[in-house]
Amino acid sequence: MNSTTNANFQSNFPIFNQIIAMNASGQGGNNYDNDYNEETIVGDIGDEVEGSTEKCPPLSGSRFEYVKKKISGIKKDFYNKGSFWIRAANPIFISSCSAPSAYCNPDLFIWAPDYLPKVNIRCKYPECNGDCSRDGWSDNPIARRVVGFNTCYYLVTAKYVCKKCKKKMNSLHKRVFEVLPLHIQMQFPAIITHRSALDLGVLHQLRASMAESMGIWNFKNALVANHARRHMELEIIYLSKAQSTQNVFSQPTDFPEFFSETYGGFTPSEHYLSDVLIKFVFDREQSMAAQMVTPPAQVICMDQSFKVLLLVR
Ligand SMILES: [Zn+2]
Repeated sequence: MNSTTNANFQSNFPIFNQIIAMNASGQGGNNYDNDYNEETIVGDIGDEVEGSTEKCPPLSGSRFEYVKKKISGIKKDFYNKGSFWIRAANPIFISSCSAPSAYCNPDLFIWAPDYLPKVNIRCKYPECNGDCSRDGWSDNPIARRVVGFNTCYYLVTAKYVCKKCKKKMNSLHKRVFEVLPLHIQMQFPAIITHRSALDLGVLHQLRASMAESMGIWNFKNALVANHARRHMELEIIYLSKAQSTQNVFSQPTDFPEFFSETYGGFTPSEHYLSDVLIKFVFDREQSMAAQMVTPPAQVICMDQSFKVLLLVR
């Protein structure tokens, strides 16, 4: 596939090209774009979210120490093992002597495209277009929370600095995505919002659920139930292991509550889910309209409830 064909190929799949359209982009200066910092992030859909429950608090306590330790162990050949992930240990393999906090460590998605072969990161300013060099890992915060199907995981992102103009950017910046081929863009698992992030699988499930008339409120409740169930499963596993190994007269330590700092449980509001979905669909409005006129359909139906396109042949 030559470069022209490749460009046409990518333009036909705006979903992936526009994943980064929701990323907050910086306004210059030396701040790292998309670091979780209210002074450096320019408004995105998060501005429209009611309340403050969608804010992603910085990691703290045992989970912060866990993530910090994992990041410090990442080497340049990290992707040679064939995965973007650092998975938390399966609770079965956690030592029975471990504190309950060991069961609360999150999965980590490591997003450092410069570690991939044949990827050159360019300056975020097209008029400069200088080569960028690696400048460590983001530390403000050290990882960004992503809401998944039954738990939250965290994005660990890289920092870059332009060799020409010395401007800096985060690996979530759209310029980083622009230099990546489509098949690499597709590996990025989340949609980034102003202060948080939502797993793409959850978003696509939300779209499909809306198409089946589930509704935002019901979807949100299902998501809460899934997250609560996962927390309960971990607690049962912890208690079961403690019961099988401890003296019958000793009491195991209480398992952390869902919203505790140690467990870090979180589910988004229906307002947030609604805003993400609307933004996602509106960003693809032109592509969806083009799809409607392309196939030789007898009837095409599309309404304003942002359902998946219906095609009746
Ligand atoms: Zn530059």
